[in-house]
Amino acid sequence: MGSSPLITLDNVSRSYQSEGAEVTALKGVSLTIHKGEFVAIMGQSGSGKSTLMNILGCLDKPTAGTYRIHGRSVAELNDNQLAALRLKTFGFVFQRYQLLSTLTAQQNVALPAIYSNTSEAERNTNAARLLGKLGLADRILHRPGELSGGQQQRVSVARALINGAEVILADEPTGALDSASGEQLLALLTSLHREGVTIILITHDPAVAEHAQRQVKLLDGEIVEDTGVHPGEPFLVERDSPVVAEFPSISTGAALSMAFSSLRLNWFRTLLTLLGIIIGVAAVVTMMAIGEGGKQDVLKRIEAIGTNLISIRPGGGNIRSSGDIASLTLDDANALEQIDGALYVAPERSSRATIRYTDNDFSGRITGTTPAYFYAKDWEMSQGVFFTNDDVTSYAPVVVIGDTVAETLFEDKYRAVGEYILMKNAFYQVIGVLKSKGANAGGSDMDDEVLIPITTGRLKVFGRPYLSSITIKAASTEAATAIQAQALAILTERHGKEDVMVRTTDSLVEAVTETQNTLTWLLASVAGISLFVGGIGVMNIMLVNVSERKREIGLRMATGAKPGDILKQFNIEAWVVCVLGGFVGILLGYAVIFAISQFSISVAYTWLPPVLAFFTSLVVGVLFGFAPAHKAARLNPIDALAEE
Ligand code: ADP
Ligand code: MG
Repeated sequence: MGSSPLITLDNVSRSYQSEGAEVTALKGVSLTIHKGEFVAIMGQSGSGKSTLMNILGCLDKPTAGTYRIHGRSVAELNDNQLAALRLKTFGFVFQRYQLLSTLTAQQNVALPAIYSNTSEAERNTNAARLLGKLGLADRILHRPGELSGGQQQRVSVARALINGAEVILADEPTGALDSASGEQLLALLTSLHREGVTIILITHDPAVAEHAQRQVKLLDGEIVEDTGVHPGEPFLVERDSPVVAEFPSISTGAALSMAFSSLRLNWFRTLLTLLGIIIGVAAVVTMMAIGEGGKQDVLKRIEAIGTNLISIRPGGGNIRSSGDIASLTLDDANALEQIDGALYVAPERSSRATIRYTDNDFSGRITGTTPAYFYAKDWEMSQGVFFTNDDVTSYAPVVVIGDTVAETLFEDKYRAVGEYILMKNAFYQVIGVLKSKGANAGGSDMDDEVLIPITTGRLKVFGRPYLSSITIKAASTEAATAIQAQALAILTERHGKEDVMVRTTDSLVEAVTETQNTLTWLLASVAGISLFVGGIGVMNIMLVNVSERKREIGLRMATGAKPGDILKQFNIEAWVVCVLGGFVGILLGYAVIFAISQFSISVAYTWLPPVLAFFTSLVVGVLFGFAPAHKAARLNPIDALAEE
């Protein structure tokens, strides 16, 4: 097999469908360009020059005819192979330079080398070397806005050369330059040609075309003149296989650093995007901490009561216990004392009343009970004694009060014992004051007890003989379950029907846990919705981002980025936003938790909510970042580059 020319166009046509009508920009163009040639393609505006260049540079495909590079038909190549050709074989120089204004000259030149997986250090060295060669050594850190048109165009030539292009495709490269800079650029192209680079120069200006060795003239999409190969020009050795090997995707490191620099450049927009995720994640973390804190708080209170207590209340099944249900009696309580392992059986009945000492009043709950109550609750006395079983059987008019009650009624609470207080037209002697238990976790006072013998209470305060509850203290937490069953059996037999509820704190714990868990998940899902809304915000901003950066995307693709590279870059940008937002959100969540814990609201610091929130935000990034990234990867580079 002999060597094939670098470029062979065989009867190539390109037509556009525009508003229903068909416009044919190229009509059966046949052209052969050898390696090492310097060809000018001339023609008036609209003659099809740019269309031809886009086809030559593999940004566009012919609608008819064949285009071969080193003998290989371009029609057979897939997107990634075409990207490899743009990356390694061709270098574009555009009329309007197409530099990225946010990058320095060096970064602009180095850009295409990202897609050939050159290391950052090597990219920068090569870019600096090329810029130095083109006379811009002292301009490498300048941004395009700080450079003249001629300098910018030289930067774009350097960019075209960074991956060692065989062919430079320059579309009206002097079109935007003054004549002196134009001459300089043409001299540069001529010297590159001498070094062996194939140059295809597109221009409408015959004076510019003179710099080339060969002129090809287009008119209405057809070649009307071709000066042919320059006589005496030795062809360079041509290879048979072009570089169409697909390149691996850009490294994640490169994509990450591109993501960070683009997020930094648009920091305000980034911040707004982050805010959605931050608030969502912080809300999830805070809500779950509050829910969990509430649960642990209630559980702690139950624990404080004791896990070996069994409480019996009237009612059961479908009977509600709120009314005065006449089922539990003092005899029931006595009957329950026979149960093995029941340490104390404390009957209880309470009602509200006002007690008075001289001019001082105390209104609150009056509880009638037996000494068992005192032992069951593990209470202690600070003064005096608790009433005895004898007091109970003799209907003694005695009272034991809590610390708060003593403070309310007496000038000096230490002189309470022995005094007489008045309640419902009867006098009671204070025989003891309970040791202060302080406020419980919920903030309510636990020292407001007023206790009298159940018998005395039944006679003088409550009016009716029924109990509001019976509390049994089991010898151990393990014994509680067995006692619960026995108590229910005894009472059911005594009453002839099941009309009481027997509960251990275990079942209470279960019920509380269940309701609190439901509450926690409810709060979390409300917060989750805000995270979802944050995700939609990310998608929205990323879509705007893609529309705004069309030109950049087009340029990246023209210089060799594969659609997969663009997809990766934009996906990673979305992930970075969400991961950053998730991280800051967790910190903010903890700050909020800490702040509210200062207002004696119970919160729990657990590992689950932050982990959950973080992964949710990551998933949000993956889900909502995909559509914008996909849109970016599918952009047509020609349209994208035309964007101003
Ligand atoms: P030149 O670069 O020589 O000025 P072009 O190659 O840009 O010419 O355009 C050649 C012809 O094709 C023109 O008539 C132009 O209107 C038409 N054309 C170019 N691009 C498109 C397109 N995307 N859709 C429809 N018509 C187009
Ligand atoms: Mg043009």
